[in-house]
Amino acid sequence: MSDLESARLLVTAAQEIVDAAIKYAAVVTEGGAKIDEHQVHTERVTYLATQVRAAHELTATGERLAAAGRPDALLSSEAFIYAAEATQALSTALNAYYDDFGVDDVAAKLETFEVRTAIRSGLSEQRIRELGQARIATGGVNNVELEDEIATLTRDLARDFAKNEVVPIAQDIHRQDLLIPESLISKFSEMGFFGSSIPEEYGGTGMGDLPMIIITEELSQASLAAAGSLATRPEILSKALLAGGTEEQKQEWLPKLASGEVIVAVSVTEPDTGSDSGAVQTRAERAEINGKQGWVINGAKAWCTFSGRANVLAMLVRTDPDTSKGNRGLSLLIVPKDPYYGHEWRHEQPEGGVITGTANPTPGYRGMHSFTLAIDNYFVPEENLVGGEGGVNNGFFLQMGGFAAGRLQTGGRATGVAQAALEKACQYVVQRKQFGLSLAEFQLTQHRIGEMSARISAARQLTYAAARDFNSRGYEAPMAKLLSCDVAVAVTQSAQQLHGGWGYSEEDPISRYVVDALVLPIFEGVKPILELKVVGAALLRAAK
Ligand SMILES: Cc1cc2nc3c(=O)[nH]c(=O)nc-3n(C[C@H](O)[C@H](O)[C@H](O)COP(=O)(O)OP(=O)(O)OC[C@H]3O[C@@H](n4cnc5c(N)ncnc54)[C@H](O)[C@@H]3O)c2cc1C
Repeated sequence: MSDLESARLLVTAAQEIVDAAIKYAAVVTEGGAKIDEHQVHTERVTYLATQVRAAHELTATGERLAAAGRPDALLSSEAFIYAAEATQALSTALNAYYDDFGVDDVAAKLETFEVRTAIRSGLSEQRIRELGQARIATGGVNNVELEDEIATLTRDLARDFAKNEVVPIAQDIHRQDLLIPESLISKFSEMGFFGSSIPEEYGGTGMGDLPMIIITEELSQASLAAAGSLATRPEILSKALLAGGTEEQKQEWLPKLASGEVIVAVSVTEPDTGSDSGAVQTRAERAEINGKQGWVINGAKAWCTFSGRANVLAMLVRTDPDTSKGNRGLSLLIVPKDPYYGHEWRHEQPEGGVITGTANPTPGYRGMHSFTLAIDNYFVPEENLVGGEGGVNNGFFLQMGGFAAGRLQTGGRATGVAQAALEKACQYVVQRKQFGLSLAEFQLTQHRIGEMSARISAARQLTYAAARDFNSRGYEAPMAKLLSCDVAVAVTQSAQQLHGGWGYSEEDPISRYVVDALVLPIFEGVKPILELKVVGAALLRAAK
């Protein structure tokens, strides 16, 4: 059997068990309505389903490439290894929590001779070490076939840009906790990176979700905060405008977002409101100031990334004072302000309104600064409420598409950070000698690199699959975010360990990759919420 045939055998068996487990969990949770009474099991099933989905997408990529006459031996090996890893994880969970899964009818399919043999072969030390050796030999560089001409050209462009413009400044920005320089923002605009998800008719490049993810991945490889996350800035607002903005609002704002003339910061989180974003407390009340109709905002926001430099905040506010209405009482306001630099800022309006920002110190994700905001009687004209009158109390729903796109982007961001760590590790283990040998010659090093490489490929192909077929209501994009972020955390830490003590030095970028990766499972939907309320809920609803 070829590697891809073995991978497919495993994915098919695992998928059958996962489908049965989801079906049973859907019954137990009444289509997801009672997830909170079964959180631990729901999380387990969701995660296993995500791993099996990634194994499927990686295998499917290998199959498509082989069918097109361009087989990729390393990717096929990664598909086999990852399929074996995912199937073994399922088998272990089934052994430990058998009764919870309710898969009596199909459980034996994981225990057949063919499946057990394939798992052992896929996870064989020799296979993983050979993959590691092959990756070390090519510096870990990712040149996987993208099956899409525009995406391929985009990768070359973004890779050059990252190498020439971002890498030389990334480490200084991190170590000195600087803001992204204006020169980089201008070059970013010239490349059209801000407008990649905005249609051409509104000034964007409308290049589609896959090329956009490739840009994000390549830039994140150079720096998560100083480049890879810049392209995600306009996402929430542009998606909300496209979903429900008035035509005047689209004409007014989208071209400015696409060109980078307007830099957006997203302001949803509050000091007391995080994952439960329907509980936003910051209030906006109708008011007339100097003969102008609009809204006056009062409250506090938290973690508003890049809000100092931004000239617009996309702010979710409560417009219906009845808090029992939850997410049905919120609106999305476009809040203009001047740009400021540094860790503290204060913007005063002629009308008397004030917003102040204080940056929260963080170990990583530096370059944009994330601020706590105090908002005091800040006036916003009525034409800045997304969707006009139709958008009043509808802001939460208009934002949903932006949240989904943000998760997809984060799959790309995480893959980029993990890839950076893999390449750095591949370079280091060749140079560093101990006990008379380069680290690359030790079996354990080869095995570690092989594991890292297979996991990154799985995360990457799951993210690409979600991008190719992006559907803001689907569960592949949040699955991609869920898996890739965990892969980034694990891979960066493995890569750091391969650097020994030198990997702990702030002078080496590997220590930046580690602290940057730590934020990935937190923002854009903290991991447990993604597992339970996004992926889990969608899977169980669909299986009802
Ligand atoms: C560096 C950084 C940048 C950020 N940038 C932005 C930004 O630009 N704009 C913005 O609006 N926000 C931003 N955020 C905020 C981010 O989106 C939130 O931190 C995230 O949504 C989680 O909210 P929280 O921190 O309040 O955690 P909480 O919601 O308090 O959750 C904490 C933990 O509680 C547990 N938990 C919570 N609810 C449940 C539940 N129902 N079931 C089981 N367990 C549960 C989970 O373990 C969870 O991890 C940023 C955060 C960081 C760290």
